[in-house]
Amino acid sequence: MPEHVLRVIDLETSFTRDNKEIKILRGVNFSIRKGEIVGLVGESGSGKSLTSLSIMQLFHGTTGKIVNGSIHFNGHDLTKMSESEIRKIRGKQMAMIFQEPMTSLNPVLKIGKQLMEAIEMHLKLPKNESKHHAIQMLKSVGIGRAEEIIYEYPHQLSGGMRQRVMIAMAMACHPNLLIADEPTTALDVTIQAQILELMKKLKEENETAILLITHDLGVVAEMCDRVVVMYAGQVVEEADVFELFASPKHPYTKGLIASVPKIGDNKEVLDSINGQVPSPQNMPNGCKFAPRCNQAMSICNQESPPTVKISATRQCSCWLYVKKDVEVNA
Ligand code: SF4
Repeated sequence: MPEHVLRVIDLETSFTRDNKEIKILRGVNFSIRKGEIVGLVGESGSGKSLTSLSIMQLFHGTTGKIVNGSIHFNGHDLTKMSESEIRKIRGKQMAMIFQEPMTSLNPVLKIGKQLMEAIEMHLKLPKNESKHHAIQMLKSVGIGRAEEIIYEYPHQLSGGMRQRVMIAMAMACHPNLLIADEPTTALDVTIQAQILELMKKLKEENETAILLITHDLGVVAEMCDRVVVMYAGQVVEEADVFELFASPKHPYTKGLIASVPKIGDNKEVLDSINGQVPSPQNMPNGCKFAPRCNQAMSICNQESPPTVKISATRQCSCWLYVKKDVEVNA
């Protein structure tokens, strides 16, 4: 069995507002193995992006902080490392691509300079070799005129090209883990397909583990080996991708899958989950999904459900699956 590149254990992250600590992530657990693509899904406000920022420890300019739990990356607990130790890992062993590449690309620096800076810093290559490496990376992400692009600025490129540059930059140092937060949401469908194909190829060639954060279940079905479903700052279900789509267990997962339009559906109104994700300041007692759940029982409003191991490859946090004959990780 391939080793774990990342293990997130009981992760709790909070922000401070008006001198009050507001917990956003409440006990997040999941792991990713070498060469595996894990999809992190859920509605806006479910805690997906904050999970990725917590892993990267990118809280600059915010009051965000990890208050509990651990993040083991290649066996080392990132929560115990200093900022300078984390900086050495970020960009080299662990890289991130965002929905909008302009948030990561410096608008006043030429593409080549930005790529070469990352390569020189992490791979310690001399200038002429880092330029050659930068051109090779751009070619590997399907940028044909790489020798010219290195002298251009980000604004001179299309959205799809900028996203490719971001991927080239993220992959330049051959990271063990790539975190991709909605990497194709802002792109048109054809470019989206090309970028996803490219990420798959990079995973296959380099055995990079990928955490793919998306609200698009079509992308998950196409790309992922496993899926982690988040709701209100917690993981509510985790399963192999085929199992999850064939028989979702958690009522929230069922709702998400039912709300995806299907070819041949003649429905005038799509299925949707009633209500909204609760705000962190107004979390209900018991199961956080209870106010929206059509299978809620009285215990659901009183006690949080434990995580139930349903099989070797799946687990679910829901009172419906708490039976005497299943293993419970409370
Ligand atoms: Fe619904 Fe209860 Fe399961 Fe929560 S624990 S998802 S309320 S059935």
